Amino acid sequence: MRNRTLATLLCMGLLCLAVGCKQSVGENVANATPVSQPAPAPQPAPEKIKRPAFDGDLAFKSLEKQCAFGVRYLGSPGHKKCLEYLETELKKYADKVILQEGKYKDLPYTNVIAVFYPEGKQAPAKMPVLIVSHWDTRPVADGPGSSVAQGGFRFGEKGWNRLAPIPGANDAASGTAIMLELARILKEQRAKTGVVLAFVDGEDYGDFRGNNGAGDGVLLGSILLAQKYKDYPEIGQPLYGVLLDMVGGKNLVIPKEENSQQYAPATNEKVFGIAQSLGYGEVFRFDETQSVEDDHIPLNRAGIPTIDLIHPLPYEPYVQRGYRYWHTLNDSPANCSAKSLKIVGETMAELLYHETAEQ
Ligand SMILES: [Zn+2]
Repeated sequence: MRNRTLATLLCMGLLCLAVGCKQSVGENVANATPVSQPAPAPQPAPEKIKRPAFDGDLAFKSLEKQCAFGVRYLGSPGHKKCLEYLETELKKYADKVILQEGKYKDLPYTNVIAVFYPEGKQAPAKMPVLIVSHWDTRPVADGPGSSVAQGGFRFGEKGWNRLAPIPGANDAASGTAIMLELARILKEQRAKTGVVLAFVDGEDYGDFRGNNGAGDGVLLGSILLAQKYKDYPEIGQPLYGVLLDMVGGKNLVIPKEENSQQYAPATNEKVFGIAQSLGYGEVFRFDETQSVEDDHIPLNRAGIPTIDLIHPLPYEPYVQRGYRYWHTLNDSPANCSAKSLKIVGETMAELLYHETAEQ
């Protein structure tokens, strides 16, 4: 993924401040009820749904397992092993597993899509909830914190610069690990909503600035999914989507993402509200903003309102609090934590098991 310019961020930040003010005015009015009036009747608490707990340690084991396959960029041996792992695991849990294949130059890439029917149903939902992560890793360590392979891309005989491929513990394995753990608990107990978990490939292979800025060899799997999802009745027309990208780093912080807010404001508010209610308000920061070009963009353009949950890239204003190991050889399990996976995983589980939209 790539972040937008600082200027854009600043403009968005001002916009966000304005919205923030409006909300706090509303709160003040609500609190100004005269003391003599009877207190409003207590509202019933939202129904507490019994569901399996999301196990952050199991998710962390899956993150380590993916990294143990080695680097996982298109065409690498680790990429092949990881694909087999995803397929094997998901066939244990899902009602249906779809492999959606594409090709970039000479290299095949594969989206692995796991479909879970709604509780008590024997057919896919027409409007399931979609959760997305990318599972491929970057073939070159070109992040600002990297001491190797900086200075852009070279397209060689066999593809992009592969001199310093990254381990991709956070940037690929984290969101993927959370989705695998969600698959495990969904097998244990289906949600009322149908769920589609899309493990997309080829997000991070090529050059985001290539092709006159449109990107070349990046977001491959999400573009394919966006183009073709209507060909698969099992996927239906997702109600909304949530993209999980870089959600396992230590000191995780997830500011609201501006494209998400533009395309899917209701989902953004719902997810950040759930996180708040679970006590994760320090991580999910609705009062802070970032703008990222990621797998959610093609999906939003194709009519699936999708938000991106992502630890900021280490650029201004997140040089200190962003994920400093982004696109470096240090994007390793040692810089990730089971606690972060648990925070995001529990938020997603709560979202899925409380979704009551007509299926
Ligand atoms: Zn990346």
